[in-house]
Amino acid sequence: MSKIYDVIVLGAGPGGLAAGLYAGRSRLSVLIIEKGQDGGQIAITDEIENYPGQVSGDSGPALIARMTEQCEKFNAERVSDTIKEVDLTSEIKTVKTVSGEYQAKNIIIATGAYSRPIGCKNEAEYVGKGISFCATCDANFFEDFEVYVVGGGDSAVEEAMYLTKFARKVTLIHRRDELRAAKSIQEKAFANPKMNFIWDSTVEEVGGDEILTWMTLKNKKTGEITKIEADPEDGMFGLFGFIGTIPNSDLYKGQIKMDERGYIPTDDDMHCTTPDGGELKGVYAVGDIRVKSLRQVVTAAADGAIAAIQVERSMSDYF
Ligand code: NAP
Repeated sequence: MSKIYDVIVLGAGPGGLAAGLYAGRSRLSVLIIEKGQDGGQIAITDEIENYPGQVSGDSGPALIARMTEQCEKFNAERVSDTIKEVDLTSEIKTVKTVSGEYQAKNIIIATGAYSRPIGCKNEAEYVGKGISFCATCDANFFEDFEVYVVGGGDSAVEEAMYLTKFARKVTLIHRRDELRAAKSIQEKAFANPKMNFIWDSTVEEVGGDEILTWMTLKNKKTGEITKIEADPEDGMFGLFGFIGTIPNSDLYKGQIKMDERGYIPTDDDMHCTTPDGGELKGVYAVGDIRVKSLRQVVTAAADGAIAAIQVERSMSDYF
């Protein structure tokens, strides 16, 4: 029979790695399963400035490498494998992967979420070279530049407003002629002198020489194509996408409660519930996949620590 771990962590982003660290330090047997490189969305972030204590100029991958090393130091096992199926409802949980099957008494789900791509031609080439999906992470890099934001919901408008503190001009590009964002947020945006709006338009194509210097927009009503070019003195502009995020939660559908967008609600101790809100022992969710108000490295790491300690307490007889 295969080994039954105390806890298996699904995903090695900041939430999963913090869970691995805390579980390992608590002397639990822990396995972290990750299909790609460690770090999740942070692995593609050039510079992290907002993680407490972070070394100035340090990259996302460097921070993650230290987190991985810390996990290893406390004996968290790590496999690179793609999860195909999970059984979360039995007392002993099973995780089937492309190359094997793993079992544990507890599961910590840390598979994160990803930003919905803008959907324009050449997009992937310019992510991190002008295109970003995180204003909190990257606004500083656009101090005094021109910045464009795609989307019309609360996130797009709020993040655009945040970007006005850095950029000299922020232009929101929305596919319709009215915003989806809450009226109170809209009012503030319309009153902000740095905010501009391009209506009924989508980004069709982006380009440049190494960094983003031009894009074409299509007017959805007239079909007209407009080319936008960077101010020659700037040599580039920023393009931020906020058209929703997509949680990596398909694997768990039907076994745990999710909201209509696939995010997982938990209590303060990261416990998941059955789809109808009933008790589900031994299943926790942490990081960006949770229903939460701030998706950042620091909040994901905090979630991971809480979940691992809850696992430890649930397995100890001194409580
Ligand atoms: P959202 O509300 O789903 O809005 C997505 C926006 O992107 C919409 O304006 C949508 O256009 C646009 N969009 C979607 N697909 C697109 C595409 N392929 N091309 C161009 N535009 C596209 O997402 P969100 O703003 O991330 O917010 C998610 C949830 O979090 C919402 O419930 C929101 O209320 C909540 N939230 C709340 C706050 C707050 O209360 N302070 C802050 C942030 C988020 P259409 O309008 O045409 O559909």
